[in-house]
Amino acid sequence: MPSLLSFTREELRDFLKNQGRPAYLGDQLCDWVYKKGVYDYAPMTNLSKAVREELPSLLPLSLPKVFRRQDAKDGTIKLLLEMEDGSKVETVLMRYDYGNAVCVSSEVGCSMGCAFCASGLLKKERGLTAAEMVGQVLSVQKILSETKERVSHVVIMGTGEPFDNYEEVMHFIRIINDPKCLEIGARHITVSTCGLIPQIERFGKEGLQVNLAISLHAATQEKRARLMPVAGFYPLDKLMPALKNYIEESGRRLTVEYILLKDVNDSLEDAKALADLLRGMLCYVNLIPFNPVCEKSFERSPQIRVRAFKDALLKRGINATVRKEFGTDIDAACGQLRAKENKK
Ligand code: SF4
Repeated sequence: MPSLLSFTREELRDFLKNQGRPAYLGDQLCDWVYKKGVYDYAPMTNLSKAVREELPSLLPLSLPKVFRRQDAKDGTIKLLLEMEDGSKVETVLMRYDYGNAVCVSSEVGCSMGCAFCASGLLKKERGLTAAEMVGQVLSVQKILSETKERVSHVVIMGTGEPFDNYEEVMHFIRIINDPKCLEIGARHITVSTCGLIPQIERFGKEGLQVNLAISLHAATQEKRARLMPVAGFYPLDKLMPALKNYIEESGRRLTVEYILLKDVNDSLEDAKALADLLRGMLCYVNLIPFNPVCEKSFERSPQIRVRAFKDALLKRGINATVRKEFGTDIDAACGQLRAKENKK
């Protein structure tokens, strides 16, 4: 039976109707789960005892198990969540001035093989279902509810390539965006891809106000292909027109992610090449300081070079910021906690 977390409000009403139950039960359940934060049928006192007893088999409702939790001094919380089949995924709460963002994983492992990434150390086992992604957000919401806070932003940037699990990710977005469910505004949702062109094209046609981020990490095909095997399939000279097309079709500003690796892609020539590549595009660059992972030989760019890189972009008219760092006293690199647990 499908999980309650796999439906938007409308879908839930239809499902219940098809099961011979009243559609309004769907409204009541959404209210309990998403507005009141109750993740168990027993305390739903406005439902009859008989309904409460039959619901667990008709419509299972549970959150993933918190297998590990790391709390950083800056308020970042990293969860290693265990799904029903025993798969473990990372979910992170990041605190910004403007709200609480949850970084969601979209797959168990990742097969994209980016050279600098801890998540890719464990190959993809499967894509996560929309319900499992909703479960990640609710697991964080449950923690935030203790202090009467709420999840305001969702970024699909954890382990996995979201566009490699396109249907489930889109369904997940519809559920969390639903005003009767989590009510996360589309403009507060960001999906990040390493550059799967067919899906970028499809995403541009969805008519969503959701943000797109491209993990670029290099401004030349040669360098990018060394860091990201996906560039072998979808080279830069095809990717850039697809991104320009996306911007034109969606009217949305693109986020360009660029992880700074010492002596690899952080020189002033690299900055100039990046500025040339992005000139005229409605975008901004998010420069990401690298979190060293012991299995990888890359090093972090010194601060002075990060600043120089950013200034070089700004001087050339490219909007750029350095991403705020989170949880530097815990396993900060994406995928690090899970890889460590698996090693154990
Ligand atoms: S950076 Fe993203 S796409 Fe690349 S291996 Fe890591 S999780 Fe996969």
